[in-house]
Amino acid sequence: MKIDVLTLFPDMFSAVMSESMMWKAREYGLLDFHVHDIRDYAGNKQRKVDDSPYGGGGGMILKADVLTPAIEAVRPADKTPVILLSPQGRVLTHQLAAELSRQPHLILVCGHYEGVDERVRELAISDEISIGDYVLTGGELAALVLIDAVVRLIPGVLGAEGAQHRDSHADGLLEGPHYTRPPEFRGLGVPDVLTSGHHAEVDRWRRRQAIKRTWERRPDLLERAPLSEQDRAYLAQLKTDSED
Ligand code: SAM
Repeated sequence: MKIDVLTLFPDMFSAVMSESMMWKAREYGLLDFHVHDIRDYAGNKQRKVDDSPYGGGGGMILKADVLTPAIEAVRPADKTPVILLSPQGRVLTHQLAAELSRQPHLILVCGHYEGVDERVRELAISDEISIGDYVLTGGELAALVLIDAVVRLIPGVLGAEGAQHRDSHADGLLEGPHYTRPPEFRGLGVPDVLTSGHHAEVDRWRRRQAIKRTWERRPDLLERAPLSEQDRAYLAQLKTDSED
């Protein structure tokens, strides 16, 4: 996958994009990542990219005559999605990240100040994505969150052993608890089934824990989660037990 990012703060990407999974994805040739400084497209000596809003009011607006040509310079003549990070966009979910992970190329545009001139949206943006119902200072952290959520789903990035199919939200549920050595810590042990060596029982236990945890913390997710007859029976039992 290729990802191009347009930003006023290119340095914000260097640390994250050269560590851990991102480094691995780039090193293995699974991710081709480029950052572009919007100021390089300012077209004026002062490298001015913003101006005050028509109609008054506070804040500055990213100029359409800077940002639009900047996007056009990066965008090939195809249907590559041009995504503006925005608190007004559709909210990023696992499903959306999975959808984006199947795209060969993404262009991400980071806003700043009060936002971007509306004409940029009309002329050069094909989608808007929010990382949650709150406002950040700029789109850079949101872009990094989106990139992380998407890149880890590209086949090969987490390796064959990657358990991302069991991660929270991947199948509509939260994941259950994890344990590792030591077998006892400050008086707390580990569920016997996990050391039993019985894989089918471990899978059954994990599925039940995922349902239990989702019911306790995010019951809203259960309304949409694909549950088998067995899952539903277990959920009904949980509800009955809680009433006792
Ligand atoms: N005035 C804008 C509004 O009320 O919709 C908010 C502008 S915000 C201070 C500046 C930039 O940060 C936005 O253009 C966007 O790129 C980014 N941003 C802020 N919150 C975000 C969020 N929840 N998700 C994604 N991007 C966000």
